[in-house]
Amino acid sequence: MSRRGGGPQGEDLSNVEFETSEDVEVIPTFHSMQLKEELLRGIYAYGFEKPSAIQQRSIIPIVKGRDVIAQAQSGTGKTATFSIAILQQLDTTLRETQVLCLSPTRELAVQIQKVILALGDFMNVQCHVCIGGTNLGEDIRKLDYGQHIVSGTPGRVYDMIKRRVLRTRAIKMLVLDEADEMLNKGFKEQIYDVYRYLPPATQVVLISATLPHEILEMTSKFMTDPIRILVKRDELTLEGIKQFFVAVEREEWKFDTLCDLYDTLTITQAVIFCNTKRKVDWLTEKMREANFTVSSMHGDMPQKERDDIMKDFRSGQSRVLITTDVWARGIDVQQVSLVINYDLPNNRELYIHRIGRSGRFGRKGVAINFVKSDDIRILRDIEQYYSTQIDEMPMNVADLI
Ligand code: ADP
Repeated sequence: MSRRGGGPQGEDLSNVEFETSEDVEVIPTFHSMQLKEELLRGIYAYGFEKPSAIQQRSIIPIVKGRDVIAQAQSGTGKTATFSIAILQQLDTTLRETQVLCLSPTRELAVQIQKVILALGDFMNVQCHVCIGGTNLGEDIRKLDYGQHIVSGTPGRVYDMIKRRVLRTRAIKMLVLDEADEMLNKGFKEQIYDVYRYLPPATQVVLISATLPHEILEMTSKFMTDPIRILVKRDELTLEGIKQFFVAVEREEWKFDTLCDLYDTLTITQAVIFCNTKRKVDWLTEKMREANFTVSSMHGDMPQKERDDIMKDFRSGQSRVLITTDVWARGIDVQQVSLVINYDLPNNRELYIHRIGRSGRFGRKGVAINFVKSDDIRILRDIEQYYSTQIDEMPMNVADLI
């Protein structure tokens, strides 16, 4: 990996045409990937039979040590892709951190750890979660003990590196999950801070559902001749997800509309997105006042509370979750088949992240957008951008879920 530039300055933001690299092979089975016996056992025991499209193309280049940019829509098996590749690369006889995995949210970091531990069930692998909002002493103790893989958020990871508790000398791979988010303004500096502490030969793997051109351009600063495995915009579909809108005209009407839909929400499970934490709190409060049972979660809540809420939702104990976009990125809750955009998302990428939730691994889903008169334009823009169709919600929407 070259150290060209080494900083965020001087980006070339011009557009580039990008496609999947020509030398990418498609490996149709896990068996033919020649993975370690105990890893293969873990994969099959986890219930995977056949690699998904992104797995068929990306696992081997990562295992071979290439820098890789992998893009596919939400729910296509990206997390499992790099988890399998990481486990294949690992030397478990060496109790040192060999892989660092960075994510934009704590929930995602935890989920990655879970997937790694599950797939690596027969490998005796140590994987530690290093995130803010947890006990620092405990973190230090666990890292001191020695961890093969660290999955974390940039802030805490950098802190641990600076304290020299997280030793970087044996790190050979850096994974940036949800890279578009990781490399945006908020995280970019932190990523570079961490990156500077890694050995010069560290392999970089970049994973994302969406990769805006300016991010792709930035990758030249810390990736060397990367293999690109990309799904072009047109292929990034919302396939299998029925999308509707309800014209509410004014903000005040959204609440009643939601109450009317409550029975529909609880048919299986639903996630309701608002654009701000305040709005999440407000809506939760108001729903409860009206005697509806709802859970809510956002980034200002203590970690323990966030964990408990996620647990209840995963287990199906809570059925309606009101949240901000902290939830939209990559969290895998299979049974969510209905997403409500109480507020339309602020950009197109967020739209696919939110709605992608309901279409995991071929599962069908329904999305309902609440649109005020002045939102119609945004909705049409999304529709056009993704070449998709968003119709007015029919009376019998419950039958479609
Ligand atoms: P992404 O990271 O792209 O959002 P995940 O890796 O979280 O996707 O995978 C989405 C869901 O599909 C998860 O429940 C995961 O366990 C499942 N999955 C991933 N790969 C496979 C596979 N090869 N076979 C069956 N299920 C899979």
